[in-house]
Order: sequence, then structure tokens, then C-alpha cells
Amino acid sequence: MVPELVGKLTGLGYAVSVEPGAGRQALIADEEYAAAGAVLDDRALNDADLVVSVQPLATDAIRRLRSGAATISFLPTRQEEATVRDLRDCGVTSFAMEQVPRISRAQSMDALSSQALVAGYRCAVVAAGLLRRFFPLNMTAAGTVPPAEVVVLGAGVAGLQAIATARRLGAVVKAYDVRAAAAEEIRSMGAVAIELELETLEGAGGYAREMTEERAARQRDLLAPYIAAADALITTAAVPGRQAPMLVTAEMVEQMKPGSVVVDLAADSGGNVEGAVSGGLVRIGNAQVWGGRNVPSQMPGPASRLYAQNIVNLVTLMTEQSEDEGAARFAPDFSDEIVAGSCVTHDGEIRHEPTREAIEGSSEGPA
Ligand code: NAD
Repeated sequence: MVPELVGKLTGLGYAVSVEPGAGRQALIADEEYAAAGAVLDDRALNDADLVVSVQPLATDAIRRLRSGAATISFLPTRQEEATVRDLRDCGVTSFAMEQVPRISRAQSMDALSSQALVAGYRCAVVAAGLLRRFFPLNMTAAGTVPPAEVVVLGAGVAGLQAIATARRLGAVVKAYDVRAAAAEEIRSMGAVAIELELETLEGAGGYAREMTEERAARQRDLLAPYIAAADALITTAAVPGRQAPMLVTAEMVEQMKPGSVVVDLAADSGGNVEGAVSGGLVRIGNAQVWGGRNVPSQMPGPASRLYAQNIVNLVTLMTEQSEDEGAARFAPDFSDEIVAGSCVTHDGEIRHEPTREAIEGSSEGPA
């Protein structure tokens, strides 16, 4: 939560408590929350109706909640099976921001998009900062300096923002994505869409599908000359629920020019670039390779502001105004597809079917 949005929640009729120090990493002081109408209270979990956070709560925090309380946070259910079990067993209703359906009515609640926007911008700025040459064309009395050439792989929300940012800095940008619709979006950002003689891979809900190993190898072969010619390579490719696809081998990076830069946003979910280290800067051949780790947190102010707005919009959807003047009731309506789609646990059951199957098996009921 950010102080400027506390008033939205109190305006709905909620009493808001903030854990002391909660905003420290985002450069927000406790006093700012207090001035906005929140109470600083490190025991607030014990009788909260709803807890909102960025990361899922730890086991000891979940066990402090009363049965019937609710949580809203990012909750990567594949990596957090123990957390999901705890939430189920403690009778906590939980909602995962990753599962908010990507329909137009839910756009204002779409934290994947808001955080990808921050991450995509940051990737382009990191590439520009690491590259020891200009992004833009410079025509000066001392001669002309050509613009940098940037290649972006994966043109979803983050990739398009990386393209837009690199373009604003004046680089010449080429980009590739497996989805057919992406080519037009790439062009609308002022970049060149790289067209490969490969089938496109559209999956459900506007996402990509996973590649076969054969197609992946062919894609790498076809992309190699573009990467060898680039000054900076930014990779943002992902397939929901899967490890990030490996798009660029170390051998391809070794073909890049001296001083080249690689920024792999996917480094903390498997990596698009072989050898990239999440949270580290390594040298491969002539290139400096930067691996992203929790990249939105590197711009904590805007990331928090956007995330908090997503949360407030979702909480508003789940709030019932009672007859009593000003009092709010957190009352998610499970017949609403946004509520049902984002729910992971409720009433002692795992409601998110793929997670339930992974944890309880397909035939077994809740434990
Ligand atoms: P994402 O983070 O899952 O993936 C990033 C990109 O990587 C995607 O564009 C994907 O096609 C691409 N990719 C996957 N495998 C690849 C490969 N082998 N090579 C190159 N690229 C590869 O996706 P995202 O950014 O969250 O969203 C993707 C799309 O979803 C958007 O562009 C949009 O069409 C849609 N979307 C819709 C809404 C909405 O309707 N509310 C919101 C956000 C996104």
C-alpha cells in the first residue's frame, strides 16, 4: 500500500493498519502512512479481515490469521505449494494477483501488466547504462555517431515497454515475438518486427504457447545473425506456468561485438539467455550479461504506486457497502469471474483447479 491510496480504503469504510517499516524499501516512512489515516500496528494480522501484501505471507503470519480472513498478494502457486496448503488448512481465503483474468474489466487490477511495465522500462535503461556508447544518432561538427542497435526478444507488456523506452532514447530497435499479433504492436512502437519463417505460437488468453525443442533450435539459428549484429539485446520472453524459454545460447552471445550488452529480464524464471545469472552481471565472450531479479523492486516508488492501485481496485470490487453509514464489508462475490478466477483457497478448499490437482491429485478431495 502507498500512503496516497490509504484514503481510498478508509473512504470505503475500512480501518487500515500498516506493519511498521512496511514501506521502508519503497522509501516510504511510517509517518506518511499515519498521516494518511492508517494505524501503525505490528499485531494487526491477528484480527484482520483482509491482509494485502506483495509477496505471499509466511507460514507463521498465516497461522496468526483468524479462520475466514482473506489475503491478496502475488502467489505463484507452483513455487508456493506449502503456502497454499497452509492457507487451505487455516481456512484463509486467498487471492493471487497472477490469476486475475486478463479481461478488459480487470485491466485496472492487472498487476502482472503494471509490474511488467516497470520492469520493461528498467531493462531498457539498464541496457543504455551498461552500453558504453550512445543510444541515439548524434550528428555533430566532430562527425556523426551512429545510433545503437537494440534487439528485443518477447514483445508482451514488458518487451513493448522496453522497445518504447529504447526508441525514446534514440536506438534503432528490432524485435521478435512468437505471437502473430505482436508484429503490429512492435511496429506501432517504431521498431522493426523481425519476421522469421516459423509458425506463430498463439496460446489461450492472448499468451504464447511453449515451443518444441526442434522449433526452439530453428528459432535460435534464425535469430543468431540479428543478435550478432546488435549492440544490446533485451530478452523478456515468458510462457505462463512454464520456465522461461531458452532463446539465446552462450555461443550466440559469444558472436556479439566487443562491448555488447545483454539484459535478461527472465533470468529469475529460468532465463532466456544461457549463462545469465539472476541478480548478477557476468561476462560471456565480449558481452556483459545482466540477469534480472525482482526487477520491478528496482523502481520501488512507481512499482508500489501501481501495485497499490491494482490492489485498491480489486478490494473495491470485493467490497459490499453495508446499510450502516460508512461501514464496509469485505464480501467477495464468487459468481464474479474476476473474484472466482483469482481465488486460490476458500472455505478450507483449494479453488484454483490446476493448483488443487498439483497438490491434492485429480481425484482426491481436499485434505
Ligand atoms: P508474458 O510475460 O507471458 O510473455 C512475454 C512475451 O514473451 C509474450 O509476448 C510472449 O508471446 C513472448 N514469448 C513467449 N515465448 C517466446 C519465444 N519463444 N520467443 C519470443 N517471444 C516469446 O506475456 P505478457 O506480457 O504478460 O502478455 C502477453 C500478451 O497478453 C499481451 O501482449 C497481450 O496481448 C495480452 N494481455 C492482455 C491483457 C488484457 O486483456 N487485460 C493484459 C495484459 C496482456
